[in-house]
Amino acid sequence: MTHPAAPHDHDHDHDHDHDHDHDHDHDHDHDHDHDHDHDHDHGSELSEAAIRVRALETVLLAKGYVNADALDLIVETYETKIGPRCGAQVVARAWVDADYKARLLIDGTAAVAELSFSGRQGEHLKVVENTHGVHNMVVCTLCSCYPWPVLGLPPVWYKSAPYRSRAVLEPRAVLADFGVTLPADKTVRVWDSTAEIRYLVLPQRPTGTEGWSEAQLAELVTRDSMIGTGVPKAAPSHPAGAAGAPGAGV
Ligand code: FE
Repeated sequence: MTHPAAPHDHDHDHDHDHDHDHDHDHDHDHDHDHDHDHDHDHGSELSEAAIRVRALETVLLAKGYVNADALDLIVETYETKIGPRCGAQVVARAWVDADYKARLLIDGTAAVAELSFSGRQGEHLKVVENTHGVHNMVVCTLCSCYPWPVLGLPPVWYKSAPYRSRAVLEPRAVLADFGVTLPADKTVRVWDSTAEIRYLVLPQRPTGTEGWSEAQLAELVTRDSMIGTGVPKAAPSHPAGAAGAPGAGV
């Protein structure tokens, strides 16, 4: 912070931002480096990426550019507070409120901000709606771009090379691996995330949920249904003697 070389500080800040934004170019470099780093693999429990992150963190901490407590807070926030439950609330709201849904489809970032979800990697959020005729699925073919404010951190498979390549080449086969079989006449649309645009799938509201509250509906919304590799949970069939809505007493 009180580094004597002021011009240097500027450069560093710049690089730091790039890292966070998960720039595609940056990730390209990353891939190249991977082949290099294989020698490092002598007995360490850590992955190459983890080793690189540790090294970077150590340097940044030593130079006083970042604060360890602040880093921990960010990680904890994304691990425990920000996750798919946020996206599920957005979806449930769209299912019960047609005006909200219209706003969500026009400007995803603004509409999720109405529910107080905003932040990094969600600056340009595009919501794509599943319909009877179209199923949407999201991938980042180059790295792992993902709408953090509504889904949290991406699952490991989302970042894997097989998913990234196969989602585009054979989306129906990928869906089958996830246990999803779609009618042959349904169009599967695959959206490739970038550092600029992140996608959130608005899944179809399950049948048999008429009259359900937003909170009840949100329980049916899975993370994968918002990536498009899954569909929402089905409404439980009418419990005997019940009026239809689940969660009596909720
Ligand atoms: Fe990416």
